[in-house]
Parts: sequence; C-alpha cells; structure tokens
Amino acid sequence: MIRETAVSPFVHSGSPARVVFGRGSVKTVSDEIDRLGCSRAVVLSTPHQRDDAMRLLGSLGALGVGVVALAEMHTPTSVTARALIEVESLDADCVVAIGGGSTTGLGKALAARTGLPQIVVPTTYAGSEVTPVLGETDSGVKTTRRGPEILPETVVYDPDLTDSMPIDLTIASGLNAMAHAAEATYARDGSPIYTLMAVEGLRVLRDCLPALIEVPEDQDARDGALYGAWLCGTVLGGVGMSVHHKLCHTLGGALDLPHAQTHAIMLPHTIGYVEESVPDALTDVAALFGGSAGTGLYDFAVDIGAPLRLADLGVTVDQLDLVADQAVASPYWSPRPLDRDSIRGVLRDAYEGIRPNTRRGPLA
Ligand code: NAD
Repeated sequence: MIRETAVSPFVHSGSPARVVFGRGSVKTVSDEIDRLGCSRAVVLSTPHQRDDAMRLLGSLGALGVGVVALAEMHTPTSVTARALIEVESLDADCVVAIGGGSTTGLGKALAARTGLPQIVVPTTYAGSEVTPVLGETDSGVKTTRRGPEILPETVVYDPDLTDSMPIDLTIASGLNAMAHAAEATYARDGSPIYTLMAVEGLRVLRDCLPALIEVPEDQDARDGALYGAWLCGTVLGGVGMSVHHKLCHTLGGALDLPHAQTHAIMLPHTIGYVEESVPDALTDVAALFGGSAGTGLYDFAVDIGAPLRLADLGVTVDQLDLVADQAVASPYWSPRPLDRDSIRGVLRDAYEGIRPNTRRGPLA
C-alpha cells in the first residue's frame, strides 16, 4: 500500500561541487589539480598549519608552486590583499586550501578576485568548503555574499587530517556544523532533500561527538563526524541563513570572537528563539535531542562539555547592545522577526549561559 505523504511545493538547486571522501584521499590532490586542467597550485593555510601545507606542497611535486600561510579567522580583507600579492607573484593557476573555515575563506576570497579554481582539503567541521558563501571582515563589520564563483570546484575530505583536531575544537566545530543543519530545517527556501540531509547530519554528529569525547582517536567517529559536517555544510550552501547565522556573524565581525565557539554558544538560544514560530519545522530536531529543540540542544551542549557563555569569550554586557543594534539594523530573513529587545534578551541568555527561555525576572 502506498502511504500518503504531504509534499509542499519546493525548488531544489543541488551543489555542483565534486566531493572525494575517504582516509588517505589527500594523496589524490595532484589528480584533482590535473583534472581541473591546472599545473601551478598554491597551497593556502593558517600560520598554525604551515607544516601541513608544506607537507601537501611536497606531495604535489611539479604541480605545486608555493605556500601562502596567511589565513585568519573572519577573512579580513587586509589579509586577502597581502595573500593576493603573493599568489600573483607565484603565477598560480589554482588554489588548494588545507585547514578549517578560515583557510577556505581565504581561498574563496582569492577566487572571487581572480577567478582561480579552488580545491579544499578541510580539517575542521566548518562546512564552508561546500557553500557558495563568503563572509569578509572590514573595519569590524562582517559582510556576507553568495555567488557561483565562490563555491570551490573540488573538496577532498580525508578524515586522517581531522584525527589531530583538539577535542575542544572538535566539539565547537561540530556544533558549528549542527547549527547549519538546525537552521536549514526552517529555511524559507528549504527543500525535502536538504531537510533529509540536515536531519541526518544532526543525527550523525549527535552520535559521533560524544564518542569522540570518550575516545578522541575513534576513527569511525572521526569519519562519521566529517561525513556529518559535509551534510550540514551542504545544506548551508543550499538554503538561506536566518537569525542564528545573523547573530553569529555580527558577534564575530564586531567583536572578533572565535567562530565555532560563538556558534556553539548561540545555537540553543537562537533555535529556542524561533521555535515558538516554527515548532513543526523543528519537530525532528526536538526528537533527536529530546524535549524542545532549544532546550534539547542546550542539554546536549552541556553533556558534551561545549562552551556555554559568551562571557567566557570576553564579551561584556555593554557589547550586547552594540551587537543587538547591528543585527536588527540589517537582519536576515527569520521566521520570528528580530525585534531589538528580544534579540538583546537572547544575547543576554547566551552571555550568562542559562537554559533557553527559562529566565525569570527582569533583564539587566
Ligand atoms: P579555523 O579555520 O580558524 O581554525 C581554527 C584554528 O584551528 C586555526 O588555527 C587552524 O589552523 C586550526 N586547525 C584547523 N584544523 C585543525 C586540525 N585538524 N588540527 C589542529 N588544528 C587545526 O576555524 P573554523 O571554525 O574551521 O573556521 C572559522 C572560519 O570559517 C570563520 O572565518 C567563518 O566565518 C568561516 N566559515 C565560513 C562558512 C561559509 O560558508 N562561508 C561556513 C563556516 C565557517
């Protein structure tokens, strides 16, 4: 018997990027450069991961022309300008970014300015490698834009490269990925495929992150977490962002906060904020984490030892006003509109790290 299923109208655009996944796959980067018709690859990294970049360059032989290890969080335009000079002097015909979202961001910023094709070898769960989205920071303001020229052509996911990820970055970066998926479940331009990917990405990370806390070298859990990150990143690339990403981008740009930790702290609060407007869309998230979606995600964050308080990132109460003002001045679409007092309240809850929607009494 065929079960009746209600399907709402939708538009689905798939991501054209090529994805290679598997342990040891970093060895295929030369083939992927060749496949793009390129022969002068510049390898990008943060200063911290320069050794990884040098190792990758060594494996490319004559296809590699140098390393530019300048990537910084939030993709400052001043850093991109410096990197551009180096890339042009190397006469590179493609960029290979090895690292987390910061390095991917530098690769995207360079591609947007030069048209060079990109290969990304991710080492965190940020998910930027599969999105046509670039966030750049100039004078303390982070501006985000989308475009097909920003999407990397090829992504090589090698879980071997994630084995070294410190456990605190593992947790925060995993929650960053989960935030992409949670927000996609109520996107106004979502599709059934993206919802499937989002829920599966959340499930995989819900199972793998606690396993990695128990045994950080658990290879099945590392493989699963990177797979989950791909799913979550792909949905971020396919649908519009909403209040969660708006607040994190504003916090990151205005206060230069660590990206993954900011997402980890904000996630239960932003989901708790929209939940009263879209409870049906968040049913799967609530079922995965128990309770309501916002409180379930909060309890999960507590269980895995995630960062909980903006105050611990050095944020001050006064800065909450600045962030609320900036966020409300140029909001992303949200199923629950952003009013200044409510957003200030969400930020205040996250500042203190209290359970979402449980504040009693007046707000300081
Ligand atoms: P990151 O790339 O800044 O990495 C944090 C630090 O960890 C860096 O020093 C890095 O070198 C190091 N590191 C990375 N992988 C490691 C590993 N396996 N082992 C040891 N150290 C490692 O952090 P992130 O959270 O991955 O990325 C944050 C940036 O990505 C932000 O600028 C954010 O805006 C951007 N981002 C963009 C998108 C998008 O779609 N445009 C999506 C997510 C994140």
